[in-house]
Amino acid sequence: MVKMDDIISLSKRKGFVFQSSEIYTGLNGAWDYGPLGVELLNNLKKKWWNQMTYRDNVVGIDSSILMHPKVWDASGHTKQFSDPMIDNKTTKKRFRADVLLEDHIQKLYKKGKIQESELLTEKLAKVESNDEYYNLIIEYGIKDEGSDEWTEVKNFNLMFKSYLGATEDSSSVVYLRPETAQGIFVNFKNVMESARQKIPFGIAQIGKAFRNEINTKNFLFRTREFEQMEMQYFVKPGEHLTEFDNWQTERWDFWTSLGIKPENLRLKNHDKLAHYADRAVDVEFNFPFGWGEIEGIHSRTNFDLNAHQNESGKKLEYVDTVNKDRFVPYVVETSAGASRGFMAVLCNAYDEEEITNDKGKTESRKVLRFTNELAPVKAAIFPLVNKDGMPEFATKIHKDLQRTFKTEYDTSGAIGRRYRRQDEVGTPYCITVDGDSLNDNTVTIRNRDTMAQERISADKLKIYLLDKINS
Ligand code: ATP
Repeated sequence: MVKMDDIISLSKRKGFVFQSSEIYTGLNGAWDYGPLGVELLNNLKKKWWNQMTYRDNVVGIDSSILMHPKVWDASGHTKQFSDPMIDNKTTKKRFRADVLLEDHIQKLYKKGKIQESELLTEKLAKVESNDEYYNLIIEYGIKDEGSDEWTEVKNFNLMFKSYLGATEDSSSVVYLRPETAQGIFVNFKNVMESARQKIPFGIAQIGKAFRNEINTKNFLFRTREFEQMEMQYFVKPGEHLTEFDNWQTERWDFWTSLGIKPENLRLKNHDKLAHYADRAVDVEFNFPFGWGEIEGIHSRTNFDLNAHQNESGKKLEYVDTVNKDRFVPYVVETSAGASRGFMAVLCNAYDEEEITNDKGKTESRKVLRFTNELAPVKAAIFPLVNKDGMPEFATKIHKDLQRTFKTEYDTSGAIGRRYRRQDEVGTPYCITVDGDSLNDNTVTIRNRDTMAQERISADKLKIYLLDKINS
């Protein structure tokens, strides 16, 4: 299993992800996508967008990040979007009380204390107050750097606050959205009417969300700025649980269509449901640090639309024109993290293997086994040597393919090293121009995974790649 450090160092070295503001020692909880990272992220988002919205009954929107503050009053975020926070008095470090206990469960499990870990899991699922979190932390003797001197547990609101315009007072407060979903709920009526949608139908959106997390950790897993891919599916009450099951299957299929191995994925039922939800399942990925949520699928009843109807005074009903039925729709939502999804496909693709090189020696090969669709660079083009017309021939191919695919041109180093460089960033095809190419207009094309080479006509390259990448 790949280690987190391998992923982080490869990400920096190859330009997938950099620490934000690195030359100023970085900003905690924020990351920047580099040249290869942004390609991978865009390919992931494009795949989600196409699967989600290139159908009859799901349409897309892009709502603004800043919204009327009443949106967050109605949704409950102003009062309730908080995490239980606890400080260690000696080390002065701040923790999320529930995460502290979850980490302790993992520790017990790793030590083989299975029963004890299961008992704590059960107790944690029943916690209803901050005092109960505190009591469990004390009962289990949880320490930070040897210190068990804890403060009481308090609620910490995760929304980033700012002010609209020049005056900084309570009347101008705005928040950076902590989820994209509310932009969908408040546009429910606009979209339904303008796109002439009939229930059941969905609204999808991809966009940034911000949460002032108490602890950021595990690279892109828990950050303060991240991207979500959310879809709210509006259904007739009574049909929501069947739709929930359908979406659960569809979402599983989405993640496996990205090449994620089924053994690295699992569905986990929520032990504790939010008061408005009647079902909730997380899709989890087996990260190097353990299982973690990459998507939540929630049956949210009509809680959100009702709440916005009450707060705004505007009717958010659906009228069934056939049987004149009038109701506030129920909602099944699929709420995925683009950033966590990115990290999952990166970890899933990472592989190291022993191979025999052309000199008969064993060497280790690092390879990112992305699907062709997700690979940041689809093909790399090399002239075998930097003379005899080969660079000109190879450049022509590169320029031509570049109009359709993201390609790279590389002339430096032995051909084996150039292959290795592309393997490490997951490029599925390497095209080499050699002496024969100039005589018979053919090139070799090497497959990243099998390392097998075939010779094809240079004129057929585009069709060859289109076929491989789209299939
Ligand atoms: P967690 O329990 O891990 O904090 P959550 O249940 O609060 O997550 P949701 O509110 O359901 O998460 O958000 C939907 C998705 O958004 C998550 O599945 C995850 O992929 C992503 N997400 C949420 N918080 C973060 C974060 N701080 N950093 C990166 N991605 C996040």
